[in-house]
This record gives sequence, C-alpha cells and structure tokens, in this order.
Amino acid sequence: MADKRVFVGDLTRTEFRKRMASGVIQAAIVPTGATEQHNEHLEMIHDAFHVSHVAEQAAKRLHPRVVVASPICIGVSEQWMEHIGTLTVRSEIFCEYVYDVCDSLRRAGIGNILILNGHGGNVKPIMRRIDEYRERLGVNLRFQSYWDVYDPELVFSTMESNRLPGHACEFETSTMLALAPERVHKADMVNEAAGLATKEKGELLIGPAVAGVADVLYKMIAGEAVDKPPVTFRAGQRIHMVTGEPV
Ligand SMILES: [Zn+2]
Repeated sequence: MADKRVFVGDLTRTEFRKRMASGVIQAAIVPTGATEQHNEHLEMIHDAFHVSHVAEQAAKRLHPRVVVASPICIGVSEQWMEHIGTLTVRSEIFCEYVYDVCDSLRRAGIGNILILNGHGGNVKPIMRRIDEYRERLGVNLRFQSYWDVYDPELVFSTMESNRLPGHACEFETSTMLALAPERVHKADMVNEAAGLATKEKGELLIGPAVAGVADVLYKMIAGEAVDKPPVTFRAGQRIHMVTGEPV
C-alpha cells in the first residue's frame, strides 16, 4: 500500500527532514478542536475527533504536499464548565499555544499554514489575533473552520433543523454516526434536534468538507486568495461568526 502518512508525529525526523529538503512539503494543517460536553449522547472528544478526520483526509488528497500537526484537542470551552468533564483553556493561552505550533512549522521551513478549526468557541479568540500572527510569522497563515467551506444550499437541503454546526445537534450527531457510530450513545439522547440525525446526512456532509478544505489548501499553495469568511448556518442564513451579519 502506498505510504500516505500525513501526521507530523507519524514521521521519523529522518523522513521529515528528507521531505523538507526535497521541497515536497508545501503546507501544513494545525487542527484545533475541543474536549467538552456534547449533550448527553455524544462523546466529549467530538470536535477534536471530527476536525482531525477532515484534516487527515484533506491532507491525503494533496499527499505528500501537506502534513498535519498533532491536533490541539482542548480549546476555549469556558461556556460549558457547568457540565463537568469539559476541559478548557483561557483564550489567551489557547491562542499563544496555537501560535507556537505554527511557529514550529515555520521554523521547519513551511510557508503555508492552515489552522483548521472544529469548535465554535475557538473562532473569535483566534480571529482577534490572526492578522497579527500572520505578520509576526511572515508566512501565508489562515484560520478556517471546516464548515466554512460548505455551500449553503447543501446545508439547508440536508439539515432539517436548518442549523450547522450547532452543538451536539443534528449535524454533529449525523457526522459522528457516519464516522464512529460507537461514539453516539443513542439511549442517552435527549436533544430533539439530535433526533433528526442520520448516518446518511453525515455521509452527505463529510465529503464536501474534505473537498472544500483541500481546495483551500490548493489555493494557499498556489498563492491564490481564499474567500471563505468564518461562518455559522442558521434559519436559512449564513452568518459571519465575528460580525453576526448575513454573508
Ligand atoms: Zn461540537
């Protein structure tokens, strides 16, 4: 079987060094997620698990040009601390940690870095710093949640709740049913929107996320502009996550 390892941690230092020396590695993904309550029925690793999957599959599409840093599995989840088991870090610590990981990739010689996010609570903290970080690092740096790449038509024709990503509802439950059904504890499900979830909906949405993220990477490597604002989908609208305006 062809060698399609994409995680930095799965390579030896010899392999990584040789790939860098030959110029084959052109971009890196830094996955950011969360370990936080996901309602009664989803395992708390959801966001980290899902974003790692999308990062890995997108990198494989561009193999061997893209590597994936070890996922950052704890994010900014202060809003869920009433549900014990949630793990959180202060937003300034989170941002600086992400910065240092990106800086490590820059020091290795990688000039295109995509921070790929899978948790809503990480968006505003990083968006506040991203321009400054890009300037300080001097690389082509982007921050993007994997759902930013979705076509609104696909979202609203698939999600009966008209909402994405939401939180532990129809979307996240559907994608987990498709990716790892054993992580969906249906007997404990109390959320009505989560009840709309199906494996088929998850399968419809995973492929386009991987394809969309791969496209962002192609464009970054080619030095092309990427026009994908940080968004959330609700009530038939695509809403900018920072300004709160429809886009
Ligand atoms: Zn989630």
